[in-house]
Amino acid sequence: MNNTAITHAMTVDVEDYYHVAAFAQVIKPEDWPQWPSRVEANTEKLLQLFDDRNIKITFFILGWVAERYPELVKKIRAQGHEIASHGYSHQLIYKQTPEVFRAETAKSKQILEDLAQTPITGYRAASYSITRKSLWALDILAELGFTWDSSIFPTRHDNYGIPGSPEEPYRIITSNGTPLLEFPLTTAKVLGQSVPAAGGGYFRQYPYALSRWLFNRASHNQAKPQIFYLHPWEIDPDQPRVPNASWFSNFRHYTNLKRCMPRLENMIRDFPFGTMSQSLGSTQITRELNIRELAGN
Ligand SMILES: [Zn+2]
Repeated sequence: MNNTAITHAMTVDVEDYYHVAAFAQVIKPEDWPQWPSRVEANTEKLLQLFDDRNIKITFFILGWVAERYPELVKKIRAQGHEIASHGYSHQLIYKQTPEVFRAETAKSKQILEDLAQTPITGYRAASYSITRKSLWALDILAELGFTWDSSIFPTRHDNYGIPGSPEEPYRIITSNGTPLLEFPLTTAKVLGQSVPAAGGGYFRQYPYALSRWLFNRASHNQAKPQIFYLHPWEIDPDQPRVPNASWFSNFRHYTNLKRCMPRLENMIRDFPFGTMSQSLGSTQITRELNIRELAGN
């Protein structure tokens, strides 16, 4: 029995519907400005909800969005939420070179720091794309001054995941010896398998009772803090439809958009949520791994 009060992390990845990896084949980054933007209005709906319920959360903001909607970043900050980086261009890290990753991550950090007037120390990769192929990104994050990361999904998926990596917060010792706290995305053990239970598309596909059960199971009946995430476009049933995407991409993107907001309200009612930093602060981190151990060598 654990009597210490824990805080789960509520997180929003601030990006628009046309940034998602599922549409990368049909919408090129140079065409992004031609799509009607929905990110400001959707994020403001979420801000209203969190304000009404009086909780502070963490917003991982895409540099590309921050550059175009600086007032949104300032508003998030003014409402007392934590701001962290979601990179700049939303490209998969394992498809980038370390040089490109370093340059655009530094750029997005600077954009957010200038707007928020506070050091940006947390990071989440586009589509959780820190995998065994891109562990070098963790070294670069530590070099750039990030102290915590939330990019690793300890599960097997077609586009991301490090199966077998720790399921609770741990300390990564990067190649030059600088530590980086990793808060992995929530998974629940069901019949020996790690099942994603952190939100996003799964949250829209599962009935709410199943999501709640999985999240509670992952947290060992509220003994261990976990992460919940969603995107502003997930609460927007009226977003423009993207033509020519595959059946599977459409399924992943459009399922149950209408149900997302009421389900999110249920999550906030049923679990205690705060920022990533509050959540990390509510748990004792004892496990330590270096990059080679994380690579499984
Ligand atoms: Zn994203």
